Amino acid sequence: MKAILFHNHGESGVLQYTDHPVGEPGPDEVLVRLHAAALNRLDLWVREGWPGIKIEYPHIPGADGAGEVAALGHNVSDWAVGDRVVINSNLSCGKCEYCLAGMDNRCLKWGLLGETHPGTYAEYVVVPDRNLLRIPDGFDDHAAAAAALVFHTAWHSLITRGCLKPGETVLIVGASGGVNTASIQIAKLAGAQVYIIGSDPDKLTLAESLGADHLIDRSQVENWAEEVYHLTDKRGVDVVVDNVGTTFPDSFRAAGRGGRILTVGNTGKPFVEIDNRFIFAKHLSVIGSTMGTHNDFKKVMGLVFASRLKPVLDMTFPLAEARLAQERLMRGDQMGKITLAID
Ligand code: ZN
Repeated sequence: MKAILFHNHGESGVLQYTDHPVGEPGPDEVLVRLHAAALNRLDLWVREGWPGIKIEYPHIPGADGAGEVAALGHNVSDWAVGDRVVINSNLSCGKCEYCLAGMDNRCLKWGLLGETHPGTYAEYVVVPDRNLLRIPDGFDDHAAAAAALVFHTAWHSLITRGCLKPGETVLIVGASGGVNTASIQIAKLAGAQVYIIGSDPDKLTLAESLGADHLIDRSQVENWAEEVYHLTDKRGVDVVVDNVGTTFPDSFRAAGRGGRILTVGNTGKPFVEIDNRFIFAKHLSVIGSTMGTHNDFKKVMGLVFASRLKPVLDMTFPLAEARLAQERLMRGDQMGKITLAID
């Protein structure tokens, strides 16, 4: 098959478009012929590497993918060749205490397509049968692939972990990015009031089109935490979605009493100095999570398939041009998800 792979960490130039053997589905596994893959920032981080990362070379990037079932391993009875499917990229053992409790994203052997396992920048990928979800007739492969990881992650953070309720106020730090644009829509669907911090007028306009109620242009206000404080009549917000990390001090200031700070990552830097007085004096909770459970995936993708949540699509590149696609993501030029067409 054709695939994008790399033999060592580095800049985008390490990505090669080449031939690679098709994987064999084992027991309870399915071989998927991919038609679309979607890019995530994670793809860039895995390619660049971090201290302690362990991957097998050559490595195929990509967590998100959609296509059709091409072959079945032993014991697979729920799927037939030709079924259209989208992939949940979270890999779990199904046997540990967390998996048995339905919290499979905390699995002791947790893994991720495109990080710990060969990913979706390829014509074929092998995945466990329970990681597939049927795509309804007429629903686009690219939209399905683009929605999967970001809506799954945002749903788990806001709804499953964050317990967001109707009428609450949510501040989202950052107007663009897949998880943030998914978070705006999920928060609105949950009946919340959404505040957005951004600096790019086009990205703020996009956030507004997705339902954001209050836009705060970071380049126009000196102190956005103070701005949030004024906009909420000195109350602060109930929930802050902060996937930047370095903005934690301001997020703590913007949160009201009993506020929850939700985080699924750090697009800024991982280390930040925290003033503990904000946490105890304001009764704050910091709630971390990564990705989501199988149950979350079914729920949120059901809402995507019903068009109640809509992935924002940027450009599509042919698989062979994945390097250019990653470079676009690195520049931050995208408005929504970048996808790869795999034909
Ligand atoms: Zn497990």
